[in-house]
Amino acid sequence: MRDTLKHQGMRNRLVASLQKKGITDQRVLQAIAKVPRHFFLDSSFEDHAYQDKAFPIGADQTISHPYTVAFQTSLLNLKPNDKILEIGTGCGYQTAILQCLGAKVYTLERQRTLHQKAKFLLSKMNYLPKYMGFSDGYKGLDMYAPYNGIIVTAGAPYIPKPLLLQLSKNGGRLIIPVGDKDQVMTRVIRTQEDKFTRETFGKFNFVPLLQDKV
Ligand code: SAH
Repeated sequence: MRDTLKHQGMRNRLVASLQKKGITDQRVLQAIAKVPRHFFLDSSFEDHAYQDKAFPIGADQTISHPYTVAFQTSLLNLKPNDKILEIGTGCGYQTAILQCLGAKVYTLERQRTLHQKAKFLLSKMNYLPKYMGFSDGYKGLDMYAPYNGIIVTAGAPYIPKPLLLQLSKNGGRLIIPVGDKDQVMTRVIRTQEDKFTRETFGKFNFVPLLQDKV
């Protein structure tokens, strides 16, 4: 697949529409303007890749809406060199956005086909993160903890404790949609060893964070 001026034009229009919907973080908008989202979709969706829509990526999963990616990434409040754990690599689009923003990215996916496909694509695009794992996100990734941020890109019925414990004690942020049918976007910040603050940011609709299948 190629990235052309036509695609760049479509990305600029997408960025303008995200701004209208309330996304203000300029660095996040710049990353969306830069990463070719159509590379992550089946070629039959190429003409629609820059609409603010979710699309199937195989294995019954979907790529998140660009608005959702922008919103969650903004909530992470990235600082230079932040170490970020992503749960739910999926097609790797959110991973590429985080890479583009200069984060040190660790990402987990529990469906082997998606994990392998994303690894291949991200390496081809030169967006390969520090670590891509095939494992259960409910457990997080203790081996490389603590993280400045953890971003969960599937709907979690509850907040998994290991994720809280893998946050940096110095203001680590967990961005997680919590709920069964639809989810409340939630940000938990770890301010001390055993102190957490919790904020909520409205309703979203994610595919579920699945349990016990790996
Ligand atoms: N960030 C992705 C969103 C993909 S949808 C993107 O930009 O495309 C959510 C992903 O979470 C799916 O790929 C799904 O397979 C994965 N997932 C679901 N339950 C999981 C779990 N317990 N651990 C890790 N990944 C999980």
